[in-house]
Amino acid sequence: MSEIEIAKAPPDELFQLETDTWTEPYWNGCKDHILKLPKCGDCQHYVELGASHCRHCLSQNIEWVEHSGKGKVYSFTIVRFPVIPSLQGSVPYVPAVIELEGVDGLRLISNVIDTPLSDIDVGSEVCVHWHDRNDGVSLPRFKLIKP
Ligand SMILES: [Zn+2]
Ligand SMILES: [Zn+2]
Repeated sequence: MSEIEIAKAPPDELFQLETDTWTEPYWNGCKDHILKLPKCGDCQHYVELGASHCRHCLSQNIEWVEHSGKGKVYSFTIVRFPVIPSLQGSVPYVPAVIELEGVDGLRLISNVIDTPLSDIDVGSEVCVHWHDRNDGVSLPRFKLIKP
């Protein structure tokens, strides 16, 4: 019988939240479990998270639009070895770049969790799941949508 390895969640210490004017609406949305993405109010392109202006038209007129949280795995890695002691018990975990449905020019760096490692692939369809930390920060993570 072969053991099925499941992608775990990395420990909270791994991610330190720093917000600024350009990311605060995003993190406030996360608190409400709503994925809010920055979009240019002038040319309607999505804006890179953290950018102060649209790289297409240089407008600073950024609007925040709600997203369904559905997307695809654009790339991923599997971390199997605990590089720091606090990671013991949290491996394997899967850092991934998520391409969100209908969104061009903005990708999220996150984790794929609660999924057999062998099921995760580039192009796998995922949807957002929220992780509420004790310090009031909520992080978007992604699980596979089973066909
Ligand atoms: Zn623009
Ligand atoms: Zn544009």
